[in-house]
Parts: sequence; structure tokens; C-alpha cells
Amino acid sequence: MCTTFLASQIINELQTNGIEIIGFPRLIRLNPFARFKTRGNGGVSFKIKNDDNVGLAKKIVLEEVEKLSMFDCDNTNPGVIFYEGEITKEMQDYAFKAIYEFITIEEAEEFGKSVGCEIHKFKKGRGIIGSIAAISLPLSDYTFELLAYRASENYGTKRQIDYESVYKMDNDTFPDTFENIDYGENYIAIEPKTPCPVLYGIRSNTVEALEIAREIVKVNEPIVDYCIFKTNQHTDMHIQKASNIGSMKQFGCYEVIGEVKNKPKIIDGGHMFFYIQDDSGEIECGAYEPTKSFRKTVSNLRPGDVIKVFGGIGEQNTFNIEKFQAICLNDVEYRNPICECGKRMTSAGKNKGFKCKKCGRKIESSEKVPIKVTRNLNESQFYETPVSARRHLSKPLCRM
Ligand SMILES: [Zn+2]
Repeated sequence: MCTTFLASQIINELQTNGIEIIGFPRLIRLNPFARFKTRGNGGVSFKIKNDDNVGLAKKIVLEEVEKLSMFDCDNTNPGVIFYEGEITKEMQDYAFKAIYEFITIEEAEEFGKSVGCEIHKFKKGRGIIGSIAAISLPLSDYTFELLAYRASENYGTKRQIDYESVYKMDNDTFPDTFENIDYGENYIAIEPKTPCPVLYGIRSNTVEALEIAREIVKVNEPIVDYCIFKTNQHTDMHIQKASNIGSMKQFGCYEVIGEVKNKPKIIDGGHMFFYIQDDSGEIECGAYEPTKSFRKTVSNLRPGDVIKVFGGIGEQNTFNIEKFQAICLNDVEYRNPICECGKRMTSAGKNKGFKCKKCGRKIESSEKVPIKVTRNLNESQFYETPVSARRHLSKPLCRM
């Protein structure tokens, strides 16, 4: 079951029983390269007052997870954590580790016990890894996501969203809301593509903009519930600054500066690859087929360009680019000299200078001459993958 929907059901049930939650529930995304992750690799957390209702609240949470989880699915291995007290430095460090690296169920359980978490595992209980992180992660930067949920009888059917109203919403609320539409692909990004309970999700910097957006978006099917989550989505929280290429590890996400080594090339399946290098080593960078028009942008890179890339190192040890900044563009190309008669000369053989095929003139120097080439990229500008191919954690340029 979609974890956010389960959380919103739990919150409703708590409220029905007179238990209010403090602030917004939090939706925390973890390392996008984790192997056994669920689709979104996230955890949800919320806070309640520590009073006489705690026992009842715990009972409701566990009952709802038991009732709503789809336990016959292999990937459903929920975990619930109850924690009372301050979030300690070591808990924050744990949360960052869950975003930057991997944590096993055993490690999570041991850590949770050591800090006094009450742990409930269902089946393998993999969910406890993200639950502890969802409680512990400090949010120095954050966004909000408003999720609208469908009536259960409509799960799996085509969503009845009035696309015109989504264009209007984007027009009226961007950039306070973002990732609504991929204009290049004509793709409505607020609409999930999976048969989950979510009708749509709108992402925003402010709750106020979400309230306005919700009024504008029209749908032709019942909405059973809304929930607004405070989240680390679109903050680049998964990205660590790497001092050089050689220091990066597989399955980590980084920003790193390197010099483009070769012209980007499309290889099988429409994926585009090239290498960047520095004194510490080199790494292959990839702009994959789903990034569509981004590959066209990447194809403008030339050897000698210095760029800062943002992304992560995946299965094939390739750096998956989420965005890049052109730091210094190589706008010099070396060509054969032009003859006095106006014709470009050709090589007369290795180290034998140049000759003109038109007038027969020869020169002894083999030195090519630099010419300035026009670039389709601009120095210091950022270039990002389209909305349709963007990761939950990637910070869009409109937020930078
Ligand atoms: Zn000539």
C-alpha cells in the first residue's frame, strides 16, 4: 500500500479519536540507489503530544498498518517505530547515512534499540530502516507535497483529471509550485503513472500555494482525502560535495567538477555517454534515454569543457547526470591554416606542413591555427533533466 495514503488514514483515525498531530506529517526520501527499496524509497513520520493518549495512538497505528498493508506482495515489508524524546546527533547521522549510503534491517534494528525506539516489524520489517530516518532527519531545506487520494473503487482506472485546469494551475502558481507539467514532453507530472491510491500530487515551496493550486485543479471523480506532507523532496539532500572524481563511491550521489574528455555519444538504447576527468581519475557519465531532450543539451559538450555534474553512481558504475553547470567552456578549435588564395590548406603529411590543393602553395610549419567556435551552452548556466525524468530528491533549477 502507498505509505503516504496509509499515513493519512492513520492520521484521520487518530483525529477521530481526539488525537491531534503536531505540525505536518513528514515524507522523507532516502538513497535512490538502495537495492531493496520500494518504488519511492521513502518513509513517513509524524509527531503527537506525549500524554495519556499515547497508548491509544500506538494501538491505532499498528491496527491500521495491519489492516491496510498488502502483505501478499513480496515488496511489502512494513516497519513502525515509536520514539519518545529529543532527536539526537547520532539519530541525525543515521538519517543521513540512509540517504547517502545503505542501511540493513539488522543495522537499523540494532541502532533503533540503542536509542530507545519501540520497533514493530511486519514480515521482514524492512520499513524500519526508513521509519527511523523519517523521524530523525533534520530538514534545513524542505518542500511540501499535497496528495489527493482516490476512492478505492477507482484504483487502477484512468484518472479523471481536467488537464486544462492543471495548465492553469501551473500558470498561476509556478514557481511557488513546481514539477506540475513537463512542457517538452506534454506530460502532466502531478498525475502518477502507477495504479496507486494517489489521484495527484502537487509539489510546492509553501502551503499557501498548495491551497491555491488545489482550488484550481478540477477532477471528475471523487477525492476521498487530501494530505499535505513536509518533505526533503527537491532539496538535493542526497547530493554530497565530492572533492574529486576518485573519491566518489558507487551508489552515492555527488556534485563533482571534471573536464569533459570526449565528445558525448549515443550508444545502444538511446543512452548518451561521455567521460569526465581530473587529476584523481575519470568516470563515465550517462544521460539516459528517459531524459529525452536533455541528451540534446549534453551533446553540445566538447572535450576540454569544465563542468560540475550532479547525480549518482549506479549499477554500471556510471554517473547518472541529474543536472550540470557549465563552469568553463572550451571555445577554441584547431584547424588547418587558410591559404593566401582563400582555400583551407590540407596536411602535407605528418610534420611536413600544409599544402594548398588549389594554388599549390606550401608552408613548412605543421602548427594548426586556433579558431573560436560558437557554443550552444553558456558559462555558469545550469542544465537539468526534464520534469518527466526527474528524481524525487533532485532540486529543480527553479529552486536554486
Ligand atoms: Zn592556395
